Amino acid sequence: MKKALFLDRDGTINETIKRGDQDDSPFKVEDLKFKEGIKDLVMAAKKKDFEIIVVTNQPSVLKGNFELKEYEKITSEIANYLEIPRENIFECLHKEGLSSECGCRKPKNGLFLMAKGMHSIDLGKSIMVGDSWRDMVAADEVGIFKKIFLVCEEDEDHHGNGSSISKLEEIQLKPDKIVKTLNEVTALLNEIGRLRYDKLEMGCGGKPSGGYLHQDVTLVEGTDLDYLCNPWEVDISENKLSEVLALGVMEHIRYEDFRKTLRHMFKILKKGGEFLFDVPDMKVWSEYLYNLTHGQSEKNPFPNEHIWATIYGWQRWPGDEHKSGWTKESLLREIKEAGFSGIVEGVEVYTSKGIKRGRFTREGDAHIYIKAIK
Ligand SMILES: [Zn+2]
Ligand SMILES: [Zn+2]
Repeated sequence: MKKALFLDRDGTINETIKRGDQDDSPFKVEDLKFKEGIKDLVMAAKKKDFEIIVVTNQPSVLKGNFELKEYEKITSEIANYLEIPRENIFECLHKEGLSSECGCRKPKNGLFLMAKGMHSIDLGKSIMVGDSWRDMVAADEVGIFKKIFLVCEEDEDHHGNGSSISKLEEIQLKPDKIVKTLNEVTALLNEIGRLRYDKLEMGCGGKPSGGYLHQDVTLVEGTDLDYLCNPWEVDISENKLSEVLALGVMEHIRYEDFRKTLRHMFKILKKGGEFLFDVPDMKVWSEYLYNLTHGQSEKNPFPNEHIWATIYGWQRWPGDEHKSGWTKESLLREIKEAGFSGIVEGVEVYTSKGIKRGRFTREGDAHIYIKAIK
């Protein structure tokens, strides 16, 4: 099942044409003028795996204003511009008085159900953007996740008789969001994507864990990062997250940035939120190194290469070097200084949450496993 961005057409995708005191649809392809921001919105939505669906009432042909072939020209132009297939555009061509009552003319919801059936769309994860109360009613009835109402100039100017806003107030239907521009919808779309989870995985590499937002400093092909930046620059506001997970990450950060990261994670965690991370326990690894450099490698549980790599990093790619080393004492001091009130230590912190890593059970693979609580 796919999620979709449903778009009304006239007044949402393209400008309406003023005829008398009526806002009408363009009758000729030359009159078709796209609204500012629509292309950006559609591109952003596609990037986030939304299917783009257009749902539009088009009674003008039956009204005798123009011919169906002109309507198809306009429709092809829209499909080309938005780079969507013709089959993603659903129209109701019926007209009150001329057609028997149809089930597709918004505020009825037939167009949504057709799109759902044809493209296997999960309406509960989909978004509707429209500039008429009819769009909001139809979307509401089929259980659309977010109904976004685009205020057109008419509504802003009059805000009175016959405006969609007053109609919505009258029928007591509240859109999830009222916007004035399509750019606001694009911003909202990014926000919705980001607020899926209240947990962040730092340095996820090519194996992002499910149920987390993901941050890394480099992009691994095929991985969809929410934050491509340094960990202390993750753009989440204060008191938002319940958990930050950083396994095999913190030793890759310079001392100064390590402190910045601790403080930043403290800031974006909510009260009671947990920062889970581990670092190699240098008290143990320095003993291994002593053995190695004093001809007693046989005492070590790992080959020499593994010991050097735990101290200086495996160095498989740039950034895979280790830049800070810690003992329990020095680490706990830093965590307290960053403001965390509770610290729990031990690998059970992770295993009890179902998190698995090879080193958790490997004999002698000494790491300091931390749960720091805000
Ligand atoms: Zn419209
Ligand atoms: Zn219809």
